Amino acid sequence: MRPSIAIIGGGIAGLAFAIHYKKLGGRVDIYERSPLSGREGLGFIMLENGMRALSKLSLDQEASKIGYSLDACHIIDNTNNLLTDEPLQGSYGVTRKAFIDLLLAQIPADWLHFDHQFSHFEWSDNNSASYACFSNGNKVSADFFLGCDGGRSAVRNQIFPNAKRSEVRVKELVSIVESEALVNSLGRRFIKFKQLEGGLAVGMVPADDKRVIWFVQYDCQRFDIENLSFEGKKAFAEKLVNHWPAPISSLIENTNFDLSHIWQTCYLLPLEKFHKNNVVLLGDAAHALLPFTSQGVNSAIEDAIELCRVFDKAQEGYTAIGLEHYSAMRRSIVNQYLDQGIALQEEFLQAHHAEQKIPFAF
Ligand SMILES: Cc1cc2nc3c(=O)[nH]c(=O)nc-3n(C[C@H](O)[C@H](O)[C@H](O)COP(=O)(O)OP(=O)(O)OC[C@H]3O[C@@H](n4cnc5c(N)ncnc54)[C@H](O)[C@@H]3O)c2cc1C
Repeated sequence: MRPSIAIIGGGIAGLAFAIHYKKLGGRVDIYERSPLSGREGLGFIMLENGMRALSKLSLDQEASKIGYSLDACHIIDNTNNLLTDEPLQGSYGVTRKAFIDLLLAQIPADWLHFDHQFSHFEWSDNNSASYACFSNGNKVSADFFLGCDGGRSAVRNQIFPNAKRSEVRVKELVSIVESEALVNSLGRRFIKFKQLEGGLAVGMVPADDKRVIWFVQYDCQRFDIENLSFEGKKAFAEKLVNHWPAPISSLIENTNFDLSHIWQTCYLLPLEKFHKNNVVLLGDAAHALLPFTSQGVNSAIEDAIELCRVFDKAQEGYTAIGLEHYSAMRRSIVNQYLDQGIALQEEFLQAHHAEQKIPFAF
């Protein structure tokens, strides 16, 4: 008999696990704190490794239809000189809402339990979690609990209370703008304008035929936003980058800053393991990465696929060894992304030099 599995957090990692496990013949229950599945964040870039992982869910074709294929990354300075032009293989811009909706559509409604904010575990005598308790008063038992509750994971706090996150050095004001003309003018490119002295950049990702996700990325020791109102966010963007090359001023002009948010980017210092007894971490809960890698979403899906393999074999009694393997294998990969992200953040903060890399971890 398969073990019972409770997933805490219905974002990318949690939903991807549920879909793949369903394909393998299993079932899960998902407990998500929001009334709808996690839509924090506006969009992202699916990279080749994430699309490969999605193909295991048979969703790569669907994802390519809701996304916008990107074939190049252009880095341009803020006086409009092209610094770098590199190809992107098999990559897509996509809105988070469309992507989450695609994942949700694969999951039976009775597996989803919204308005469930995890608060703590009750433990059995052998140090395994026996119940997950939620702030609405419900508590559920399961053989295994998967912590898929993002970068500020309450599940992680329960099993690794000493885990530490880096300081926030870079923030992003992330926005979305609707303009077919703008999408057409960008072509199939991810474009990043950067200040040559470092510490400030503007990125643009076409996310479908008429929407562009764009962001102002800034060293928050040099620049910071004080007023988080609609007007405050707009004034901040105008002050920093309105005079930069087209189409930046029109992006600012056409953005509804009520929908914009500030992403306080930071990373999680590497954990020694991604599990403790019957509690397992996936996605940002296990390894929050810096934005420069574009691996947050892609690696969350990869985690889910790898962990499904363990539970698919659980019937054969391999779970403990399998979890060690999951932990070791995924740690070695995401630790490389983490190192690349830290190096890319350093490059972002410094003045530009000719060998600078494009902002992705592969
Ligand atoms: C504000 C913000 C903006 C971002 N912007 C970008 C971006 O522009 N580009 C990019 O590539 N990446 C972005 N990211 C990172 C990206 O969203 C993550 O790397 C990716 O979603 C990881 O997937 P995940 O499943 O681990 O976490 P998530 O997709 O964040 O899912 C976590 C889920 O857990 C739920 N949850 C949290 N706490 C609890 C709890 N106590 N109980 C129950 N449920 C809980 C949340 O509501 C959410 O649905 C952003 C992240 C944040 C937080």
